[in-house]
Amino acid sequence: MPELPEVETTLRGIRPHLEGRRIEQLVVREPRLRLPIPPDLPALVGGRAILGLSRRAKYLLIEIETGTLILHLGMSGSLRVLPTGSPPGKHDHLDLALSDGRCLRLRDPRRFGLFVWTPDPPEIAEARHPLLKDLGPEPLGQEFDGEHLYRASRGRRVAVKSFVMDGGVVVGVGNIYANESLFLAGIHPSRPSHRVGSERYGRLARSIRAVLADAIAQGGTSLRDFVQEDGNPGYFAQSLKVYGRAGKSCPGCGEPVRQRRIGQRSSFYCPRCQR
Ligand SMILES: [Zn+2]
Repeated sequence: MPELPEVETTLRGIRPHLEGRRIEQLVVREPRLRLPIPPDLPALVGGRAILGLSRRAKYLLIEIETGTLILHLGMSGSLRVLPTGSPPGKHDHLDLALSDGRCLRLRDPRRFGLFVWTPDPPEIAEARHPLLKDLGPEPLGQEFDGEHLYRASRGRRVAVKSFVMDGGVVVGVGNIYANESLFLAGIHPSRPSHRVGSERYGRLARSIRAVLADAIAQGGTSLRDFVQEDGNPGYFAQSLKVYGRAGKSCPGCGEPVRQRRIGQRSSFYCPRCQR
């Protein structure tokens, strides 16, 4: 599944090819995504200039003259920039044909992705749109720190791992990143969130930033793939310390890494290093 680092890498990969271009045409081959693409969308966006691209959580926001396209890659979506007229594959559901003879193409085999439009500019959409308005702070932004986690966790008995994966608390901490950052911070994933102190939340916030920044840095090496026809854009393997390593030695102490389910998600931790 595309996680926040893949979405950030996608943003950086496609932005230079879209900003300042005009949308010639939106070609929809399959409107049935997680929400259906409205039939009038091609008429709303055709001929409009693309003013800028940004990201909020795992949503890509494409600002055009008359509003904002909100795009989500769902479970299996990916974006590439190709010459307009490249033969589409079975799962290439839409093309945003651009004024320079290329197109932005969405491939999404499982069709959990989203492609919706709002007449609001991105700043207003972020504050008001139902998909965006209740999202917590960006993990790499200024508002996110240990103090934020500490305050938000008071009175909450949910496991700290589920707590940091709650998009209303902080966005973009997917399962892999939650496991890895809790390991780095030395916090047991099933500890109740109200029983983690402010100093340890400070360590956890720094770990979350470090793990995500590291993943984004590694993703940068795959940027060239965004303009290759058969490239596999944006998805990259990271060196992981505990995730997926049940039974293998903890890199900190050598104890076997354990696995258990917390809030329906696979959780990996070291029973000695994490408390
Ligand atoms: Zn250990």
